[in-house]
Amino acid sequence: MRAKAFQVLATCANKTSALTIYRSKGGCFKLKTNNSICRRMNNLCRLRHPLETGGILIGHYTQKLDCAVVVAATGSPLDSKRSTRSFQRGIRHLQRLLDLYWATGEYYLGEWHYHSSGTTTPSHEDLIEMQKIARSPEMNCPIPLLLIVGGDSLNGFSLGSFVLSTSGRRLIEMKSKATLA
Ligand SMILES: [Zn+2]
Repeated sequence: MRAKAFQVLATCANKTSALTIYRSKGGCFKLKTNNSICRRMNNLCRLRHPLETGGILIGHYTQKLDCAVVVAATGSPLDSKRSTRSFQRGIRHLQRLLDLYWATGEYYLGEWHYHSSGTTTPSHEDLIEMQKIARSPEMNCPIPLLLIVGGDSLNGFSLGSFVLSTSGRRLIEMKSKATLA
């Protein structure tokens, strides 16, 4: 299950890697992901630095619908636009990849991107982007997730984990104690 145009960072096939759970205050929203996905996101950021980069998150919700399980994150499609201050994800070959995952019960959950040498705090543009995704009938993702990698190889990378509130007005942070190596 691998598109030729870009790298799929990791899937749940890697069961040996530890999991990290991110929780919102009060525990309404949870996100679980394989640590190898986070490590590989860091590697991709290291590779693209000082440019920003990113991709999409693929996975499913638990039966109780209280936890998003991210099983894969993609690298950036070839038609993405990268600069040191912004990243516009392209779409090339993504639908084909999503169709393959759909057949196994996994689907689009949201986005991830790199704030090159920056913090993991979402920008106003990030909020607008998530609101657009939530409203888009084609995306079929009313509560999108957003992972932001901050920092750089010199100072270390860190990961911010967010979900759009059900009102769509703000991004809610989900915290864990994990700091990415
Ligand atoms: Zn951002």
